Amino acid sequence: MTLAAAAQLEKTPLETYVPPAKPSLIGLSRAELAERLGHIGVAPAQRKMRAQQLWNWMYLRGARDFSEMTNVSKEMRAQLGEHFTVDRPEVVAEQISNDGTRKWLLRLPSGDDVQKAHEVECVYIPETDRGTLCVSSQVGCTLNCSFCHTGTQRLVRNLTAGEIIGQVMVARDRLNDWVDRETPNGNRLVTNIVMMGMGEPLYNFEAVRDALLIVTDNEGIGISRRRVTLSTSGVVPNIIRTGEEIGVMLAISLHAVRDELRDELVPLNRKYPLKELLQACRDYPGASNARRITFEYVMLKGVNDSLDDARRLVQLLKGIPAKINLIPFNPWPGSAYECSDWDQIEKFSEYIFNAGYSSPVRTPRGRDILAACGQLKSETEKLSVRERDALRAMAMTD
Ligand code: SF4
Repeated sequence: MTLAAAAQLEKTPLETYVPPAKPSLIGLSRAELAERLGHIGVAPAQRKMRAQQLWNWMYLRGARDFSEMTNVSKEMRAQLGEHFTVDRPEVVAEQISNDGTRKWLLRLPSGDDVQKAHEVECVYIPETDRGTLCVSSQVGCTLNCSFCHTGTQRLVRNLTAGEIIGQVMVARDRLNDWVDRETPNGNRLVTNIVMMGMGEPLYNFEAVRDALLIVTDNEGIGISRRRVTLSTSGVVPNIIRTGEEIGVMLAISLHAVRDELRDELVPLNRKYPLKELLQACRDYPGASNARRITFEYVMLKGVNDSLDDARRLVQLLKGIPAKINLIPFNPWPGSAYECSDWDQIEKFSEYIFNAGYSSPVRTPRGRDILAACGQLKSETEKLSVRERDALRAMAMTD
């Protein structure tokens, strides 16, 4: 592939992360916490124990300030407060859909210039047996998938591990969902994480990995690896690494069963065509009938929704422990596609089901707040300052 062709597939970040003068400890591993403690003069013999204390306060109990850390000495708390924070992204706006879906617009702490602060969205989807949080990995996206609203944005920058885990922490804060706080039925509300928000997670591999290792650590946020799903458009070289280094469930944004069409819908296919992508799935560490790979397939009217496509899909997935998630297309202003007719979605689903695959049709959630799949874009950017302040005030008071 020529450089020019590659440039069309992948955008280059416009900016790099600038940490605030007083950095947040959120997103650091135990070893990194111990190292930071060393920087502020904590004796080597104490660092491991202190790092574990911080870990528990931050990731198990969700402390928002060092003053809450009552088993840490007063002097140490003051010392920590002088150099660090436990800040997470700031909630700029909260919208609650008729169906209970919540979307937060989050401002990322970045440098000291508020004008330059970036924003991402994060969506919580409650269901009867679970609560799923959809998390972003980039501001904007590296890729240009033609059916995706986020793909129309520039790639501003990769998120840090702290900004990724910070989204989970904000959700727990807003839902009052930390370990020693009461929840309506005594269960945690955020039970599942999907890396399906803005961005291609495998183009920000290290930060996503570090954040997910904290999410799944059972002495902290403690969400099982089986309840964490990373969705990729098919960055083949990092698929195996995901299995080996993170060990979470894998989802593939497939959307087409022939290279010509997938080249158009998911242009990254020109770099990593179907054959290579499916081989990486066959080789995915830990995939089994109990841990199936999810293939996401957006239903586009007259584009990829024929029964011939369904037949080819079944053929392609032969030998892969798979389930197929059919996603009715969520139109957005300016999109070139329409959602398949319901009738056709049902026929497609039935064909796949009869071939032995689970093929649930994803119920559209949060459509009224543009929170549904592929619609994540900071449309609040268009709001006036006054409207945004009003939304922010709402977010702070309820
Ligand atoms: S579908 Fe995912 S990878 Fe493709 S443009 Fe949208 S956010 Fe990026």
